[in-house]
Amino acid sequence: GGIAHDFNNILTAVNGYANLLLVKKGDAGLVKSYTDHILNLSEKAAKLVRDLLSFSRRQPVFIRPTDLNELIREVETIMLRLIGENIEFTVNLSDEWITVQIDPPQIEQVLMNLATNARDAMPSGGKLTISTKPAGIDNEFIKRYGYGKAGKYALITFADNGMGMDEATQKKIFEPFFTTKEVGKGTGLGLSMVYGIIKQHEGFINLQSKPGSGTTFYIYLPLAEHAAIEEKRHTEVFIPKRETGVVLLAEDETALRDVTKLILEEHGYTVIEAADGDDAINKYMENKDKIRLLILDVMMPKKSGKAVYEEISKMSPDIKVIFLSGYARNVIKAEEIIGHGWSVLSKPVSSNELLNKISEVLNK
Ligand code: ADP
Ligand code: MG
Repeated sequence: GGIAHDFNNILTAVNGYANLLLVKKGDAGLVKSYTDHILNLSEKAAKLVRDLLSFSRRQPVFIRPTDLNELIREVETIMLRLIGENIEFTVNLSDEWITVQIDPPQIEQVLMNLATNARDAMPSGGKLTISTKPAGIDNEFIKRYGYGKAGKYALITFADNGMGMDEATQKKIFEPFFTTKEVGKGTGLGLSMVYGIIKQHEGFINLQSKPGSGTTFYIYLPLAEHAAIEEKRHTEVFIPKRETGVVLLAEDETALRDVTKLILEEHGYTVIEAADGDDAINKYMENKDKIRLLILDVMMPKKSGKAVYEEISKMSPDIKVIFLSGYARNVIKAEEIIGHGWSVLSKPVSSNELLNKISEVLNK
């Protein structure tokens, strides 16, 4: 609910700035400022969707050098939303840069699972503190605590002042399906998932807890030997060269179709619109000799994008196509895409991406 609310706020603002832009066309300074807002907000909205997706879908493991503090800063808001307002949340990040060798969505998952447990352990409020610092494990550490492998690590400390656990409970918490929560509240999978992920990263997890005086988890993650890979941002400004050609754009979502049409026209293309699969075929028949490229939403009423393409390519075997796909790529299978050499863009598609793809496909 909280996320849907935030998402709506973002979209409302995007809409507002876009409308302002419509009436302010003449004033270059304002246009620039409104455009910056729009780009910023849509980047935020896209990030929110990515966050949601990473919880609902298991992503493949891709371990790479990552800035740990940056990662924690990025999940801070979503954690804050999860734990609610009566828990005081403090994040103490080390001043030093800490680059760890991790798969970011999995470590985000670890943080979210720990935050969920901390929230459950503090039903009437409390304090949650996350801190990071570089830490070494040496032979003395291994002898003292009975675990570890010598090397350089980042230490994440995750501390709540909630109900805590007795020793018997502590021994079992990483077991799958172990839960002390009532039916429907706990699955007993949170910490076993955490444990599995930390092991997969060749890290260590340990805890300190006492009934009535809170729980602190210590997570050691191996430091990376190389600098963090910068995650790609989509907001870079780019001015593509003007092109020509007639494009058939079939997309059932009106707002999306309208804005895509504007972008294409802005760059010189002529756009024929279609609102669903049948409409796309009809419009193609009417303009057969002009259309050089089909841009087809994969999921449309009446006929899917793929069915539209198959029907049209029977008449015009050389017709070029770009598919626009929602996050679920299940309508067209990956092997099919590769086998046919089709171009597929995943939504949300930035105007950059789309324009680049179009000129690539047209000039092939
Ligand atoms: P679940 O949360 O579904 O019960 P988990 O694997 O996440 O499953 O946790 C297992 C158990 O560990 C919990 O039921 C709880 O008894 C205990 N636990 C985990 N985190 C905490 C915490 N921060 N404070 C107190 N108890 C905790
Ligand atoms: Mg849990």
